Amino acid sequence: MRTVYFDPSLLTSTFCPRAMFYRQVENTQTKFDSIAAIYGNSGHRFLRKLYEGEGFNPALAYASEYYQENTEGKILDAKEFRTCQHLQLVCLNYYQNHLSKYLHQMPVKIGEGEKRILGTELNFALPYKVTDDLQVILCGTIDKVVKKADRQLEIIDYKFTATWDSRMYLQKAAHIPQLRFYSMMLKKFLGLSYYPSSRLEGIFLSRLQKKDPKLEKICYVEQSDSSIYLEEDMKIFEEMLHRTMAKWIGYLDHQDVGNRQSWPMDWMQCSGYWGDCSYMDLCNADRDQGLYELLKTKFEEEPYEPLKFQN
Ligand code: SF4
Repeated sequence: MRTVYFDPSLLTSTFCPRAMFYRQVENTQTKFDSIAAIYGNSGHRFLRKLYEGEGFNPALAYASEYYQENTEGKILDAKEFRTCQHLQLVCLNYYQNHLSKYLHQMPVKIGEGEKRILGTELNFALPYKVTDDLQVILCGTIDKVVKKADRQLEIIDYKFTATWDSRMYLQKAAHIPQLRFYSMMLKKFLGLSYYPSSRLEGIFLSRLQKKDPKLEKICYVEQSDSSIYLEEDMKIFEEMLHRTMAKWIGYLDHQDVGNRQSWPMDWMQCSGYWGDCSYMDLCNADRDQGLYELLKTKFEEEPYEPLKFQN
């Protein structure tokens, strides 16, 4: 029996099933993905240990060890600033300035009783399709769930990012498929009558100044506004997810999976035209043909008749 785990935290905004296949079945990583993703994972490991009640030092050691092991020999590029020392300083900064205030008592009220933390690092795995020889499991980790003053639940997701434009980054929060997906899962698991809202907590990284490493400048933390998910939007989202899953599972069942040229393609979901896909160099989809197909869907093919609009 073949088991494939589908982690929607890797969903792209375009839902390209081919990109998902590269990433989640072939396990292909781009250079950027690997260092940035390992950095993010290490940060989450640090948080997980803290939430489990371990002190700062054991949590930091756990994260650092994981980071060092997984990046060994990879940080060769002089421009790559995400060293292990950088990670450690970010964790220290985040801990001192944001986490230490409420870690000693969980669950806890934050601020003026606005929110109560109900759970952290919640893992889930839901069988999506099971046949005799294949099982596809939807899985993921919800970083934090809080109860708001109106008694509804909200999902908080941490992102470690080197993006310099924090405002733009946080504005995109409402459109991140991963968070919609978590909202859908939480509603399902808890039998809620509404879709929990979500909020992004961005840990924005800056480079370490070699001469004068200033801890307070190594990162800053900002939260997005709350993203509210409307029933009708979520219906469209769910349909899109099921359609993508169907195509993706179609690849898994495909006879000739080793021959990339033969993979089916959904041009409408290719972001390669806009230079926005990390698998572009690898992907052998014929994007020129794809662009033509896309144009055909957007413009009616009509013969040009200049006199048509004259009286
Ligand atoms: S280039 Fe297009 S088709 Fe290929 S993986 Fe990227 S988004 Fe998908």
